[in-house]
Amino acid sequence: DAALTVPDKQVDSVCPYCGVGCQLTYNIKDNRILYVEGRDGPANHGRLCVKGRYGFDYAHHPHRLTKPLIRRADAPAKRGDFTMDPERVYDVFREATWDEALDAAGLGLARIRDTHGRRSLAGFGSAKCSNEEAYLFQKLVRTGFGSNNVDHCTRLCHASSVAALLEGIGSGAVSNPVMDVTRAEVVIVIGANPTVNHPVAATWMKNAAAAGTKLVVCDPRRSDLAPHAHRYLQFKPDTDVALLNAMMHTIVTEGLVDRAFIESRTIGYDELERNVADYSPEQMAPICGIDADTIRYVARLYATSKASMILWGMGISQHVHGTDNARCLIALALMTGQIGRPGTGLHPLRGQNNVQGASDAGLIPMMYPDYQRVNTPGVRDKFAQAWNVDPATLDDQPGLTVVEVMDAILAGSVKGMYIMGENPAMSDPDANHARDALAALDHLVVQDIFLTETAYLADVILPASAFPEKTGTFTNTDRMVQLGRQALAPPGDARQDLWIIQQLARRLGLAWNYGHPAEVFDEMRGTMPSIAGITWDRLERESSVTYPCTEEGAAGEPIVFTEQFPLQGGRARFVPADIIPADERPDDEYPLVLITGRQLEHWHTGSMTRRTVVLDALEPDPVALVHPLDLAALGGQPGDVVTIESRRGRVALYARADDSSPRGAIFVPFCYYEAAINKLTNPALDPFGKIPEFKYCAIRVRLGGT
Ligand code: SF4
Repeated sequence: DAALTVPDKQVDSVCPYCGVGCQLTYNIKDNRILYVEGRDGPANHGRLCVKGRYGFDYAHHPHRLTKPLIRRADAPAKRGDFTMDPERVYDVFREATWDEALDAAGLGLARIRDTHGRRSLAGFGSAKCSNEEAYLFQKLVRTGFGSNNVDHCTRLCHASSVAALLEGIGSGAVSNPVMDVTRAEVVIVIGANPTVNHPVAATWMKNAAAAGTKLVVCDPRRSDLAPHAHRYLQFKPDTDVALLNAMMHTIVTEGLVDRAFIESRTIGYDELERNVADYSPEQMAPICGIDADTIRYVARLYATSKASMILWGMGISQHVHGTDNARCLIALALMTGQIGRPGTGLHPLRGQNNVQGASDAGLIPMMYPDYQRVNTPGVRDKFAQAWNVDPATLDDQPGLTVVEVMDAILAGSVKGMYIMGENPAMSDPDANHARDALAALDHLVVQDIFLTETAYLADVILPASAFPEKTGTFTNTDRMVQLGRQALAPPGDARQDLWIIQQLARRLGLAWNYGHPAEVFDEMRGTMPSIAGITWDRLERESSVTYPCTEEGAAGEPIVFTEQFPLQGGRARFVPADIIPADERPDDEYPLVLITGRQLEHWHTGSMTRRTVVLDALEPDPVALVHPLDLAALGGQPGDVVTIESRRGRVALYARADDSSPRGAIFVPFCYYEAAINKLTNPALDPFGKIPEFKYCAIRVRLGGT
């Protein structure tokens, strides 16, 4: 029946999944999304991947939370090692009115603050929420809780990249948009799997390669981008610094550095040059597994082209040496002057749709909005004035990061949490430890759209709005601030996140009354110079404006650092790095390596995509990608159940024969609650970015279930 499939409404918005930020149109009938079409946004030009095109019906899933829930007095005791069953929600929770739930949630948090002090509370916001929601969330923690214990999943993805970028070039965001790959002569993609994680961005890389750009893919796992590459370097896991220092050694010894750039725009080069002298390609070849001639060839290619660009992902960042990895990439660009022009620069591919914006908006424990450090003199007073609070209300010490919060709970210093849209019970390393911590809280408030593994441990659950049910701005990996427009009404009694945050704020003593996201955005502009020139009206008209945009009417700057870097004296800084091994190496007991990541069809902890009919049908079951020879050595066949164990936990899942990883390295996606692989991962942290080592830990594997 054509009448059933003809939309009665079309709403232009943005994809809710990855940081590429594809613009799309929702086609709606009777408050349901019928289908999605790509539109001509600056990052996608009409293209969408399978998630953007088919991953929308989670919003209509029967598991949606539609009533506030309060933990029953006779509920089973909270246990970290629970088994999730959304069908049995009423064994644990009872429905409540909004007033009852908000009073229980807000007053419970206020009681802990007043009894145990302001650092006894912590909040995790979400990179899936809008800039306005992120901003209000961190403002609530800072002014309502009174501490900087606020963080989100950037700590789990690019925190080390941001630490290195802020230190080296003064800005944690990208220097050039993805689309610049089409203007580059040479593109290095390292530690990233864009065909899976940034699929539309990958199409631009493939187009560029087809048009003559020399694409160099460097990764221990052979991605689907590798066949399009001019050179593919399958270096050994955990040897990034060896490979990159050997490239820099070549550039130095062959006189390929850009002396004029180094002298006019950087500091610290001599120390870097001294450091890489010890890393000849011959010495590093056996360590990283790439022959010396190839290392030299790629180094020359990168250094001598008219425009070379580097893009990277979490293969670089999720190591205890993640900051060092990123420091090497920054040094490569600086020593060759490959930054500040079209087709050059540094691009950490940001994961979630708004991880860039959430970080910009201050959802991090050491910085206020726009990366203004909480302990820089004058900054606290500036925000106290902007927020109309006594400066003493605001903590002048950095707060706890994601993994540190879990440790603090078990140490007894953090007793209450407010978690909006994140699922640390699935996403944190050593997930059993994280679940034990969440279960040990005196008071946990979770705001989400589904009964996630984290929500199961809550005292109060506040049913929130899905992406298409609200309006807000989202900042993509290219620094484009884009408008997502409301297309649906939330189901049942679910409410918009901005409303819920404000209701909780009132119960913490804050008299907020923002009527529309535009009012929050206007306040943000007043505290964030980078977006000061972007008006809501302009976003309504243009849908997308790139920051920095400091003056109204300014075009925005897709390419930055053209003349100087935002550091003292306008100069970038070289920071040398040496080889630091992974925290947990294979040994006789645990002889294999675990690498975790995502699949094309699923997103993060799977709470949305596994409730999407098409995506779940494509990848319905938990799988481990095992090299065929390793599987044969186990005596197994594709499809057999295998049990993977580390020193921290054990899961059973199906083996898939896959030779994209080297022998001895097993890849497992982290989206399957039935086989939550983060029970196995290592919580050891990079000392600078405080990011866990998701890309390397020691495991053993055997055939059969647990
Ligand atoms: Fe959405 Fe990313 Fe796919 Fe674009 S590439 S449609 S933003 S998931």
